[in-house]
Amino acid sequence: MNCPACIEQLIAVEFQHIEVDVCLMGCQGVWLDEGELTYLQPHIHAHTFVSMPSRTRNAPLRCCPRCDRPMDVGHLQSGGPLLDHCPAGHGLWLDAGELQGLLATGGGGSEPAGPLDFLQRLFTPKELS
Ligand SMILES: [Zn+2]
Ligand SMILES: [Zn+2]
Repeated sequence: MNCPACIEQLIAVEFQHIEVDVCLMGCQGVWLDEGELTYLQPHIHAHTFVSMPSRTRNAPLRCCPRCDRPMDVGHLQSGGPLLDHCPAGHGLWLDAGELQGLLATGGGGSEPAGPLDFLQRLFTPKELS
């Protein structure tokens, strides 16, 4: 898959037994497949995603790396940063730093590993054997 923001190749990185796709060579954005977000933050569900008119954010339109449709811009009901969300439900795109904001504001329940810890792990590619 290619990055929807800068067209670099996304790199699969393992975190807590799931794979997330990160734009390691480019903008450092993160793609989360629909189910992966739930694993990371059980309190966050994509159906709580609130779409907003894309003009509310001054950023270029991004297309889903899976299906190439223009993604909706919005945020989770619990708040947090604006995200790009595939209208077909493939997942979420987070710009660099947005994942950290999401995990910091997202669930409000159990404490996940600290966002900084998460990012540290996230940006350490797994060893290739
Ligand atoms: Zn990128
Ligand atoms: Zn899609």
